[in-house]
Amino acid sequence: MNKPLLNSVAAMDAAHQIHPHTNLRKHLETGPNELLVRGEGIQVFDETGKGYIEGAAALWCSSLGFGNARLAEVAKQAITDLGYYHNFRGSGTPQAAQLCSKLADIAPDGMDKILLQSSGTEANDTALKLVWYYWDAMGAPQRRKIISRHEGYHGTGTLTSCLTGKVKFHEGYGLPFSEFHYVTQPYYYRKAEEGESEQEFSTRLANEIEELILREGPETVAAFWAEPVMGSGGAITPPAGYFEKVQAVLDKYGVLFVADEVICGFARTGEMWGSQTYGIKPDLICCAKALSAAVIPISAVIVGERVFEGMMAQSDKRGSFTHGYTYSGHPVACAVAHEVLTIYEEMDLVAHVKSLESAFLGGFKALEDHPLVGNIDGVGLIGALEVVADKKTRAIHDPALAVMPMLDRLTRKHGLITRLIGNRIALAPPQIITEAEVGEMFTRLKA
Ligand code: PLP
Repeated sequence: MNKPLLNSVAAMDAAHQIHPHTNLRKHLETGPNELLVRGEGIQVFDETGKGYIEGAAALWCSSLGFGNARLAEVAKQAITDLGYYHNFRGSGTPQAAQLCSKLADIAPDGMDKILLQSSGTEANDTALKLVWYYWDAMGAPQRRKIISRHEGYHGTGTLTSCLTGKVKFHEGYGLPFSEFHYVTQPYYYRKAEEGESEQEFSTRLANEIEELILREGPETVAAFWAEPVMGSGGAITPPAGYFEKVQAVLDKYGVLFVADEVICGFARTGEMWGSQTYGIKPDLICCAKALSAAVIPISAVIVGERVFEGMMAQSDKRGSFTHGYTYSGHPVACAVAHEVLTIYEEMDLVAHVKSLESAFLGGFKALEDHPLVGNIDGVGLIGALEVVADKKTRAIHDPALAVMPMLDRLTRKHGLITRLIGNRIALAPPQIITEAEVGEMFTRLKA
């Protein structure tokens, strides 16, 4: 090992844990970057006691921050009462029923059926099966093709990796891509043509989708997949008019719209759902992360009337709906998620995020003139700034200069964890953040 490991826990980690999205050889040699041992409010603390504002809510997920005793009590009670039971063949638990009812109450109109899962990847993978199941029920099993966006992220399962439009996540796995098609990322700053307005850019992108549908044959296209705000693609908000124009194309050809709200759900964009922020009318919503404030794994597919009709027709034809996991509807996870939704009600989450939006976006705005900042972008409590070497040409730094890892080290030194995506620094703090804490987060970023 190149560097002496910090302590025996770090040594155990280096020797035995395979970390996602990590260079495995380097990890074997140097061990973990840090070990987080405790959290309080919007801060996490490492093993040396140093505190960091978690400016990205860990993986865009810790909506209620860290170290929540109220949620721990709820989990303890649910484990003490029952611990586990499944929901197969019509079995149930009060926890799962109550969670589904509460989630249905806050779901967009016309969407009140809930299929519980355990992760964002599972929710997207299940939604994909439901899309194909629906079209089979409609007597159109040839509707198989899926349209998603370059740089969109929908998970790293086998088929969800195909939904994901990030080439890096495709390489080396020999994935079954034949039914997956990708369209331009709605990234105005980099993808718009010279002189093109946001509306014109949106029209061009909607036309691209229509041309793809016509080229492939509308009778073969099943669904369009999108995050309302692209998270892992760079915290990219859509250009003006984008979803309105895309929705019109999909409606014209009867193509389903699957909204991946794994990041955007639960007021991240200033409304309960990103779909509401952008006027999307989804047929299916995938949600996870903030559903349980990320303290326990759980996710859900919220199913609209149109797809649910198809699912019922299939279950009539085949005797039952043949999909489910051991942990779908886990009562402990359901109890915690129900409590999280109760807390959202108590704190009036949507109003809280709305009340912070101008301070949050103002924090980015104040950095816009900085010579390193090429572009700022954001909505609600999700946003990013783009680091450039030259504001005018928008050129980025030579990757060999390792500017972004250096900025990451510096922000951490100043007690702030951000999310780096290429040359973008994204922020999506826990939704419990206060206005004073928003100010402190940007003070640290500016430093
Ligand atoms: N969809 C989106 C939009 C995501 O951001 C993520 C994870 O970050 C996923 C799906 C996958 O979720 P999970 O990591 O829980 O499988």
